[in-house]
Amino acid sequence: MSTDSRTTNAQLFERAQRSIPGGVNSPVRAFRAVGGTPRFIARAEGAYMWDAEGTRYIDYIGSWGPMILGHGHPAVLDAVLSAAREGFSFGAPTEREVELAEAIIALVPSIEQVRLVSSGTEAGMSAIRLARGATGRSKIIKFEGCYHGHADALLVKAGSGLATFGHPTSAGVPPEVVQHTLVLEYNNIAQIEAAFAAHGAEIACVMIEPIAGNMNFVRAAVPFVKRIRELCDQHGALFIFDEVMTGFRVALGSAQSLYAQAIPGFTPDISVFGKVIGGGMPLAAFGTTRRIMEKLAPLGPVYQAGTLSGNPVATACGLATLKEIAKPGFYEALAVKTKALVAGFQAAADANGIPFCTDSQGGMFGFFFASELPQNYPQVMASHQQRFNRFFHGLLDRGVYLAPALYEAGFVSAAHTEADIAATVSAAHEVMAAEAALGA
Ligand SMILES: *Cc1c(COP(=O)(O)O)cnc(C)c1O
Repeated sequence: MSTDSRTTNAQLFERAQRSIPGGVNSPVRAFRAVGGTPRFIARAEGAYMWDAEGTRYIDYIGSWGPMILGHGHPAVLDAVLSAAREGFSFGAPTEREVELAEAIIALVPSIEQVRLVSSGTEAGMSAIRLARGATGRSKIIKFEGCYHGHADALLVKAGSGLATFGHPTSAGVPPEVVQHTLVLEYNNIAQIEAAFAAHGAEIACVMIEPIAGNMNFVRAAVPFVKRIRELCDQHGALFIFDEVMTGFRVALGSAQSLYAQAIPGFTPDISVFGKVIGGGMPLAAFGTTRRIMEKLAPLGPVYQAGTLSGNPVATACGLATLKEIAKPGFYEALAVKTKALVAGFQAAADANGIPFCTDSQGGMFGFFFASELPQNYPQVMASHQQRFNRFFHGLLDRGVYLAPALYEAGFVSAAHTEADIAATVSAAHEVMAAEAALGA
């Protein structure tokens, strides 16, 4: 096909905006944080995506995390195609759902039972309902900068003090719906202690992203996680690890396995998964002990359901993905590549005298135009926005596709080669040099 017969990204974006609000089905895809025209993706293979104009990009978004094996991994593709031939959806139980549940339970010791759902939002929302149902309490604690999906009770920002609960961050969420949600600063032990001192007997759960990937990449400090665990135990609240992003992404045992190494015996109460467990198909899950899971319908009083839950094609995709990532050495190899990438970015910044820092775990990474790693949301947002935007566009122009907002994490897949990383780092050197030429 000749280039001039192709529809351009700009043409598609204009057309999309006529029939879809903002031209996108999820807001961050619209490039509003960085400006410019979103790329309309035509196809993807391995570590690469091609847009409507035929331009190739090295993909560091990986569908926002799920594509840990890269796009179109042969074993996963085979599993999906043969599952599709057997039927798209039955609305009845299947053996494959049981296999996937068993696989998740085998990899995550804190989980005795799981329920499969279709999105991370649904899993997070259901986990909170379960926590409230199991404890008979209403109040929930979340942290500023953590994202747990777009359920009403979670679209909330901090009130003016501990006595005041949250305010909605979205129109359409009545203030009464967030009146039980308390929003605290990430990594702030004094605040969580004060919150439990004030409301301990009413708190159903504390929900956290253990490595927050929705404010770029910020780790929950070990003493912070340890203190939350103690406070939850002391006050009878449940500790929810939202591992929709970190689950099977930062380690085979997910982020909780890393905290268990640092805090002997550590487990969260409820875990929430998504992204990687679906391998790119709509699939998510939440799980905990049998005792708590048995509060769910049809056994217990907490209602939860889904027409497409445990979908046979999605479970085939998830199972085939889990089988690949469970192979020996998978995460070690992934971490080596991810570290090489962020070390390369760091060297490019250092060579040009640009304040910059990075962190990574397994196949997930973050970087900041700031001299020290942020510990919470205000610190993330204080990093250099314009530099991030120029870096993003500089790399995009050179065929490297990073997340289009400074508050998003990045992802490396098993399909990325050393040559892909080297090409990315060399592009980063060019962009950092151009940045240095601009001056501070
Ligand atoms: C992506 C994400 C969600 C929401 O999942 P969806 O499938 O987009 O609904 C929830 N929590 C975390 C930590 C996420 O990264």
